[in-house]
Amino acid sequence: MTGREQDGRGCRGAQGAAGAPAAVGEGRPAVVCPRFDGVGSDGAPVRLGIMGGTFDPIHQGHLACAEQAREAFGLAGVVFIPTGRPAFKRDRAVTDGAVRLEMCRAAVAGNPAFAVSSLEVDRPGITYAVDTLRALRDHYPANVELFFIAGADAILSIARWHESAEVARLARFAAATRPGFAVTEPFKEELASRGAFQVDYFEVTALAISSSYLRERAARGLSLRYLTPDPVREIIEARGLYRLEAPAAAVAGGGKEAPWTP
Ligand code: ATP
Ligand code: MG
Repeated sequence: MTGREQDGRGCRGAQGAAGAPAAVGEGRPAVVCPRFDGVGSDGAPVRLGIMGGTFDPIHQGHLACAEQAREAFGLAGVVFIPTGRPAFKRDRAVTDGAVRLEMCRAAVAGNPAFAVSSLEVDRPGITYAVDTLRALRDHYPANVELFFIAGADAILSIARWHESAEVARLARFAAATRPGFAVTEPFKEELASRGAFQVDYFEVTALAISSSYLRERAARGLSLRYLTPDPVREIIEARGLYRLEAPAAAVAGGGKEAPWTP
């Protein structure tokens, strides 16, 4: 997080702007994203959802998960934050951050409860969740409660995260059930043994969709219709993403990856 100014789409790193929500619309760049930068500025308690992920590409499973978390926890909105260089996906090429951002923006357009932040994509180097949570915590006043939304599979990997104790301190977690992944008592005990994480579990409509599965289908020339919103599918098609023959394809190892790995 450098605090450097970013492009005209209005998001930049949070350092240096702590406690000073950007006055969106007054020509100042946003810190997290224009739509939700001012959340909590009236001092009233409010909950904000954060959905992190590689989103390579974003799909209906992500969107349904965010929507149902919003309902379940009474969130004022959900900010999708695509990772920059993910710490756990160094084994395969990940599609350029700007393109993943473009797909996320296309996916949430028209939903006033959703927004996309370029905070992680704008940060150089490997992405760690703890840096993002710190930046968010620095930006929002204490009356804003942050809910980090993730599939239950991703929650279990928290213990592997850089500075996991700090991660536990900075946010609450909303863990969604995912098909093929059971949230059992032993699972909860294992998580508890890894740190003092505050996790709420919630049921999400079972959508056995993953980005790996979409990449695999695209690589085989199969349709992505109804698996991801049409504007996202159109970007994938127009740019020839994930096609084996295209140089920009980001599918190396994609088919081998377990469908629910974070
Ligand atoms: P990949 O197959 O490349 O790992 P993915 O579909 O798991 O992709 P990610 O970007 O890794 O997508 O995941 C972002 C977050 O969304 C994670 O917390 C993950 O658990 C959650 N998630 C992804 N797909 C679903 C789904 N179908 N239902 C519920 N949660 C999901
Ligand atoms: Mg995953």
